[in-house]
Amino acid sequence: MENASKPESPFESDESFRDTISTVDKAGKRIWVYPKKPSGSYHNKRAWVTLVLLGILFSGPFIQINGHPFMLFNVFERKFVLFGLVFWPQDFFLLALTLICFFVFVILFTVAFGRLWCGWACPQTLFMEMVFRKIEYWIEGDANQQKKLNAAPWNASKIIKKGSKQLIFIFISLLISHTVLAYIIGLDQTIEIVTKPPSENLSGFIGFMFFTGLFYWVFSYFREQACTVVCPYGRLQGVLLVKDSIVVAYDWLRGEPRGKIRKAEVDSNKGDCVDCNLCVHVCPTGIDIRNGTQLECVNCTACMDVCDEVMEKVDRPKGLIRYASYNSIKDGVKHLMNTRVIAYSVVLIFLLSLTSFFLFTRSDIKASVKRAQGLTYQKIDDTYYGNIYNIKLINKTFDSMDIRIEVTGIEGATVEMVAGSDIIIPQGGMFEGVFRVKAPATSINGTRNEVYFEFYNGEKLMDKQELNFMGPMPGSLR
Ligand code: SF4
Ligand code: SF4
Repeated sequence: MENASKPESPFESDESFRDTISTVDKAGKRIWVYPKKPSGSYHNKRAWVTLVLLGILFSGPFIQINGHPFMLFNVFERKFVLFGLVFWPQDFFLLALTLICFFVFVILFTVAFGRLWCGWACPQTLFMEMVFRKIEYWIEGDANQQKKLNAAPWNASKIIKKGSKQLIFIFISLLISHTVLAYIIGLDQTIEIVTKPPSENLSGFIGFMFFTGLFYWVFSYFREQACTVVCPYGRLQGVLLVKDSIVVAYDWLRGEPRGKIRKAEVDSNKGDCVDCNLCVHVCPTGIDIRNGTQLECVNCTACMDVCDEVMEKVDRPKGLIRYASYNSIKDGVKHLMNTRVIAYSVVLIFLLSLTSFFLFTRSDIKASVKRAQGLTYQKIDDTYYGNIYNIKLINKTFDSMDIRIEVTGIEGATVEMVAGSDIIIPQGGMFEGVFRVKAPATSINGTRNEVYFEFYNGEKLMDKQELNFMGPMPGSLR
C-alpha cells in the first residue's frame, strides 16, 4: 500500500514526447545536435574503456596464433576465425550456434543492464563520442562556439578549422576501413592492396574507398541518426527492456516538482531538479532523459555526469540521474533476477553447453565414406573379394594433410585408391575419391561384415568410420 502514494513517473501520464524525434523538426528536417562537451567521472571511466577497446580493435588484425589470424570474418571465402579457431563452411552450424549464443547473451545483458553496451562498448558510440566529437571539440570548441562558427561567414580561420577537421576525419575513416577490411580479407591481403597500385587490384581499392566514404559520412554527417534511426538493437529496446532493467534513469521521485533552487535552499515544495536543462544540452541524441527511458538514449552517461555536477553545486546528493531501474526508483528495491533474466540465463547456459560440446568434440577432418551406389561386391579372384567406396574428406585446419587410410575389422583386408592418387587435402579444402577394399575370402562371413576405416595424418588418428563390407551369401564362398 505504501507504493500507492508514490507518484508514477511523469512520462506515464504524458507520452506525447514519444511521437516525435528530437533531431527532426515538424517539417521533417533534421535538427543538428550540438551537444555540450561532456566531462565527469563516468566520462573519464568511459574514456579509459574506449582506449582499451579501440586498442584491441586496431591491434586485432595483427594478433596471430601460429601464423594464423586471431579473428577473421572472410565472408567471401566463407572462412571464419574466432579466437584462433577456424570455422570452414562445413562448420557453419557451429558458427551459427556461436552467433545465437552471442545474441542470447546480448538479449540477456539488455534485459538486465539495458543499453550498457551502447554507451561503453559499441564501436559507433565509441568512435562518435570519444574520437570524432573530441576532435571536433578540440578544433571548433564547445557547442556554442561550434554554432557560432557554423553561422559565421567563410574566412581563413573557418576554412582552416573546417578543412583540418575534415582531413582528420577522413584519415581516421581510412584507418577504420582498413582495419575492418583486415578483419574481413586478412592482414596480408590488406597490405597487398595498400602497397600495390590501385590498377592492380581495382576491386580491393574500390572496397577500401567505399568503406572509407561510408565511415566518413556516418561520423561526419549521419552521426546519432545511426543509433536513433538505423540501429536495430536500439529499436529492440521496446521489447527487451523490463521495469527492472538498469538504465540511465532520472529519479523523478527526488527530482519533481522541478524548479529553480539555490544552494542550501530548503523548499519542501520543490524536488532536487533545478531545471537547468544541462542534461538536455549535453545529450548527443538531443533527448530529455527526465521524460523517461527512450530508444534514443545510448547510455553515454553524459547527463549523469553533468547532473552530478549540478547537484554538487546546489548541495544535493549526487545521482539524480543514475543507473537505476524503473522499479528501483519507484519502490526503492532492486530486482536484478527477474523472470526474464532467469529464463534467458537458462537458455544461454543450455546453448553454451551445446556449443562447447560440439566445439570440443569437433575433429580436424570430417570423413564421409559410403559404399558405391548400385554395386554389391566384386570377386577379384578365387581368394579375394572387393568392395568399392566413395570417400569425401574435409580438412578443417590451417595445414594441408596427407591422409592414410587403414582398414580393420576384416583380417588381411587392404585399401587401394582406385585412381592410385595420394590423399592430400589443402588447408580448409576437400578431397573426393574412390577406393577399393580387398579382403581375403577366408575372412568374410556372409553379406554383412563390419569394417572400420581409420584416417591418419602421419601417426595421428584423425577420424574413424564404421561401414559394411558386402560379401557373397553364406555357402557360396570359396
Ligand atoms: S541536469 Fe539535473 S538538475 Fe539540471 S535539469 Fe537535468 S536533471 Fe534537472
Ligand atoms: S539521455 Fe543521457 S545517457 Fe542517454 S544519450 Fe542522452 S546524455 Fe547520454
